[in-house]
Amino acid sequence: MIVAANFKMHKTRKETIEYLTELKKIDFENVKVAVFPPFTALIEDELIGAQNAYPAKNGAFTGEIGLEQLREFNIKRVLLGHSERRFLNESQEFIAKKFEFYKNEGFEIFYCVGEPLEVRKKGIEEVIEYIKAQFEGIDLEYDKLIIAYEPVWAIGTGVSASEEEIQKTHLKLRELTSSPLLYGGSVKLNNIENILKIKNVDGVLVGSASLDVEVFKQMIVKAKEIKWLCKEKRDLL
Ligand code: PEP
Repeated sequence: MIVAANFKMHKTRKETIEYLTELKKIDFENVKVAVFPPFTALIEDELIGAQNAYPAKNGAFTGEIGLEQLREFNIKRVLLGHSERRFLNESQEFIAKKFEFYKNEGFEIFYCVGEPLEVRKKGIEEVIEYIKAQFEGIDLEYDKLIIAYEPVWAIGTGVSASEEEIQKTHLKLRELTSSPLLYGGSVKLNNIENILKIKNVDGVLVGSASLDVEVFKQMIVKAKEIKWLCKEKRDLL
């Protein structure tokens, strides 16, 4: 089971350090925990990953950070393809370039996909076609790949996808890849349990609800409990 926190543009460096100190007071057992703070809060810690990265070691790329900056903090995990990056006009071609670059550097890649509401309204087949286009140029066999299915209309809206929508979508995604499949989009303390119990859901990517460390800790505890409840999830991360 994987439980990941995306801070987006929240928290300072000091707050992130305090957060990690608090978070580590609990035993994660076999739950894999990842935390993606803003660039200014990157620190050398096995939990930490970058929310984005430019596909180059260094260079004339104003406002970006690359491999050299990540290496300074021993960062080996990156989030790519988040819809909030795609909104900023990141093309699939560019995201695939980032993927290739960081794959070649051996990074663990949390790769986000998800459809907008108008596509969801057309049905599951259209949703999968849309997601397949977001897999273009992405090596789905990469052994350090973790996929996060995050419907755009569920991110930051307080309205999660229904259990049926998650189940059907993850089932289809499972046909395309054997990588762990996370669900993301308004995961809260009151729905995480039911979401984690869905077949082919191997974890969650949590935005707003992860900002409160006490809430995030409770989410990890729930993931630990579910792992032991669901036999079929026992062998997963
Ligand atoms: C996210 O940013 O990846 C996310 C899922 O956000 P939220 O939990 O706030 O919907």
